[in-house]
Amino acid sequence: MTSRKPIIGITPGIDYGENKLYINNGYMEAIRLAGGLPVLLPLTDDVEFLKNTIARFDGILLSGGSDVDAKYWGEPNYTYGGEISPLRDEMEIFTAKEAIASDKPILGICRGCQVMNIALGGTIYQDIYEEQKGKLLYKHSQNAPKWYPTHEIYIEKDTKVFKAHKEEIIRVNSFHHQAIKDVAPGFIVSSRCGDGIIESIEHTSCKFAVGVQWHPEVMWEKDATHLKLFIKFVSSCQ
Ligand code: MN
Repeated sequence: MTSRKPIIGITPGIDYGENKLYINNGYMEAIRLAGGLPVLLPLTDDVEFLKNTIARFDGILLSGGSDVDAKYWGEPNYTYGGEISPLRDEMEIFTAKEAIASDKPILGICRGCQVMNIALGGTIYQDIYEEQKGKLLYKHSQNAPKWYPTHEIYIEKDTKVFKAHKEEIIRVNSFHHQAIKDVAPGFIVSSRCGDGIIESIEHTSCKFAVGVQWHPEVMWEKDATHLKLFIKFVSSCQ
């Protein structure tokens, strides 16, 4: 008898100009290779619909993308903020809250990591270089192929990311000008870059609620070690 594959709902990006939803195939394939059944979620702010939909999935993956409207953590949008997707903000923030409240496994990648933190009451640097002036930060918007790791991260032992990778130092890619500032209640930092920037967080009482700032979905094809996080996530959805 073969066991039923966990069904993983993945949030898409939205192109407002073309009215199209999109997803990098690296997410879909990583979930499939990790033993899950990847399904793209609709973007809607109908919370009753979302609540019922989330309940039918075994896990949720919040994908990467543009910046979140700073109103969600009580700040104005400064000049150095990026593009905003209003419907996606609404949908993903509700989805993150609902998943964590119902202990549904959730993995947030880049923007998804930030969404989880904002949804639970944390804050974000709108631009790490503008808001940490005078500090020598690493290059977090890399000028190298997407799959290529450009900075190391230091992983805390006894965390989900450590349990996935079983190493205290790994190298990751970096495509973010924002990062977590104040960590939301219930979450801990599970890894940082050498310059102190938070690279992953996780909820301390959920089965699996992990956010990472890097993009393993574009790394695993070149380096299979970056499938490990997806495998850990999907196995927690069983
Ligand atoms: Mn980085």
